[in-house]
Amino acid sequence: MRVTLLCLISIFFQKGIAQNSTSWNGKSCAVVLTYDDALNQHLDYVIPSLDAYNLKGTFYIIGSSDCFNKRNKEWKLASKNGHELGNHTLMHPCARPHSKTPISPEKDLNNYTLKKVVSEIKETNRLLKETDGKTERSFAFPCGQKKVHDTLFYNYVKNDFVAARGVKRDLKSINEIDLDNVNAYGMKGHTATEMIGLVDEAIKNNKLLVFLFHGVGGGSPLNVENVDHQKLLKYLDFKQHDVWVAPMVEIAKYVKLQSKIIKD
Ligand SMILES: [Zn+2]
Repeated sequence: MRVTLLCLISIFFQKGIAQNSTSWNGKSCAVVLTYDDALNQHLDYVIPSLDAYNLKGTFYIIGSSDCFNKRNKEWKLASKNGHELGNHTLMHPCARPHSKTPISPEKDLNNYTLKKVVSEIKETNRLLKETDGKTERSFAFPCGQKKVHDTLFYNYVKNDFVAARGVKRDLKSINEIDLDNVNAYGMKGHTATEMIGLVDEAIKNNKLLVFLFHGVGGGSPLNVENVDHQKLLKYLDFKQHDVWVAPMVEIAKYVKLQSKIIKD
């Protein structure tokens, strides 16, 4: 029976009929809520709001950040409550001249070697494991940058991650997702109406939608107002029969499993 079912699923995928109202863990679409840079506002506003709706998010942590180190117990608790602590490197290096804000020499990716990037990403994984005890997590590229000089550094750490989140805006079907560079919509001053519009588009087209937040209710120039964020969460709760909301690590593992079913 199980084999027959798997064969049927396989046939559906091969015929390109994979996208339907149950493609995503029995739901029409998937939404990942990601929050970058380990900000105090994430602990103060975002996590309590997510917990109130029993929604789980992914928090991309900078290993050296004050907020991660000073409030480590709270991050540990967040992980226990089902949120993912993702790796956003140790120092958040970005390369000039792409960065819009000034970068200190020690955070300038142009001053890094491949060895240094790799070792700092691995060190952050060690710090995160010390905090949450987990061996599986996802990665997010600082400033969306993927190369140290001319080398794609993720290739040297990808075995340590289930997926990597990028910054290019797009919605993808389950069989189109690049787990080494998952599309995401960066939010800056977006209204609830705009965010809900994206959710509706994902539902309609059976796609994966990844939100990329920094500040919520302050904490970053890339900010979304608390009230708008709250309205988005309320809508996701209202649409829970259509939308699967889960951390990146969980969604990425599901995507991998589906592609394995196709190959088999
Ligand atoms: Zn960042």
